[in-house]
Amino acid sequence: MTAAVVSFDLDETLWAFMPMMDGSLRAAIAALEERHPAVAGRISVERLHDERQRVAEERDGTYLELRLESFRRVLAAHDLHDPDLPAWMVDAWMAARPETVRLHDDVEPELDALVASGRVLGAITNGNFPFAELAVARRFAFIVHAEQIGEMKPAAAPFRHAVDLCGGDPARWVHVGDGLDTDIAGAQAVGMKAVWINRAGVPLPEGYSPDAELPSLAGLDALVSDLLGE
Ligand SMILES: [Mg+2]
Repeated sequence: MTAAVVSFDLDETLWAFMPMMDGSLRAAIAALEERHPAVAGRISVERLHDERQRVAEERDGTYLELRLESFRRVLAAHDLHDPDLPAWMVDAWMAARPETVRLHDDVEPELDALVASGRVLGAITNGNFPFAELAVARRFAFIVHAEQIGEMKPAAAPFRHAVDLCGGDPARWVHVGDGLDTDIAGAQAVGMKAVWINRAGVPLPEGYSPDAELPSLAGLDALVSDLLGE
């Protein structure tokens, strides 16, 4: 029998998104202030969030393109017109993300349990977090960034790409995530089982039927055995 595959969403499944995002933006601002002390104390995380939001409302683009344009606008508004500076700041921000992220406490013990049970682990994310740079990624056999596939979850393409990468069987596959559309409906549509991670303990909205629900990753390995009828 082929090894069971357990794939994970990243943001809000393995870590809380906003503390990671705010922390890495703060680090980018700190790097900028060191390079251009004249702007010290003048650019806030909130300002970066607002400008990123505005850019996304005005135009299409990859996450990195939108972020780059939002930095360019904020820098220009502070009389920083060096054309290389926005990309430099994007690099500083991306470099800070692996340093800033904090895995939920339940993640590493449960990944250990899954690996010990012989599961193949993978990640399927709509985000652009540089996951491969985390030590924990060494336990993962594949990482799919949906944006690079050209279609975001819940489209089938990122899930199918994961199947191609690891040669797993969707019938022996459990996808784990917090997104009811992106993760649960998306995985089920390609024949995978789907576990809803509901860390906030909110009621299940109508129209979704995850195969199981957990408040954290704790107990996932045993649940995978149940779901796959092992
Ligand atoms: Mg998520």
